[in-house]
Amino acid sequence: MSEKLDNLKVLIVEDDKDYIELTTIYLQKWGYDYVVSTNGKSAIECLKNDKDIGLMLLDWMLPDTTGVEICEYVRNNILDRYVYIVMVTGKKEKKDVIEALKKGADDYISKPYDYEELNVRIHSGFRILKLERRLKESYQKLYEMATHDALTGILNRGAIEKKLKREVERGKRIGHEVGVILIDIDNFKRINDEYGHQIGDIVLQDVAEVLETNCRRYDYVGRYGGEEFLIVLPGLNSYSTSKVAERIRKEVENRSFHAVNIDLKVTISLGVCSTKEAQDIKDLIKKADEALYKAKREGKNRTVVYQGE
Ligand code: GH3
Ligand code: MG
Ligand code: MG
Ligand code: MG
Repeated sequence: MSEKLDNLKVLIVEDDKDYIELTTIYLQKWGYDYVVSTNGKSAIECLKNDKDIGLMLLDWMLPDTTGVEICEYVRNNILDRYVYIVMVTGKKEKKDVIEALKKGADDYISKPYDYEELNVRIHSGFRILKLERRLKESYQKLYEMATHDALTGILNRGAIEKKLKREVERGKRIGHEVGVILIDIDNFKRINDEYGHQIGDIVLQDVAEVLETNCRRYDYVGRYGGEEFLIVLPGLNSYSTSKVAERIRKEVENRSFHAVNIDLKVTISLGVCSTKEAQDIKDLIKKADEALYKAKREGKNRTVVYQGE
């Protein structure tokens, strides 16, 4: 009935050779992966270095410390995952068990133990770990959904604004400018009208891909509105930002957008501004938008840098 989980290991923390031998024989038999530590110091090293360890069989008395102290350490320091702790105790007094549970143990088993009982306790622990993994995965999915645009997979408006805010604050601290590019697809309504909404969607996806592939690892690309995008470029002034903008513009202009036997030509207009020209984030976006509007007025398919009042 072993409840195995991919990449999950049991850490046996035990200094008694006979117990180690017998326990490992059973764990092998039940099909669990395991590691053994014979003292507290090496147990903590194992927990820190081997992220696959999910469950610990923790002996009460160890040569260099006690199981309860390790328990406390785990609860205060191993924060990237839940480690399920089964205390193994030779003492039968109720107060010791209470102390272990108070310090964060999930369960306990008294020595000498019945191996079927141990199997059941490991099984319960793995059931909890499985739940915890599912919760983490759901959280991750929800987080992705809340911060990313469903159509293009890039950051959504809320998320890109948050990144911009964070980068502007960081830039202020370290004395760096932050550049932004506001992008709008030219005559996009016509693409939708001529080829249909689905083709329009494919164009949006492809444009998003061009933006992402033309940015650095520490830049952020987001969908700002229907056919509008925002790029945040930490550390770049207006001039350097305009270079990136032009590279992107040319790539979109020269690209054939293939969608269901249709070869489409698409162009974009871009407005550039940097924090040096703006009072705050709202002002920065507003000025990039003014530059974008100018690019539209001047005939589209161009980059305009905000020039000041
Ligand atoms: P301009 O060059 O001045 O920007 O003209 P435009 O046609 O691009 O601008 P307009 O604002 O008139 O039209 C934008 C269009 O984008 C209208 C809207 O239906 C379309 N759109 C917005 N979001 C989506 C989407 O998710 N998918 C598709 N296919 N179209 C979208
Ligand atoms: Mg011991
Ligand atoms: Mg628009
Ligand atoms: Mg447009």
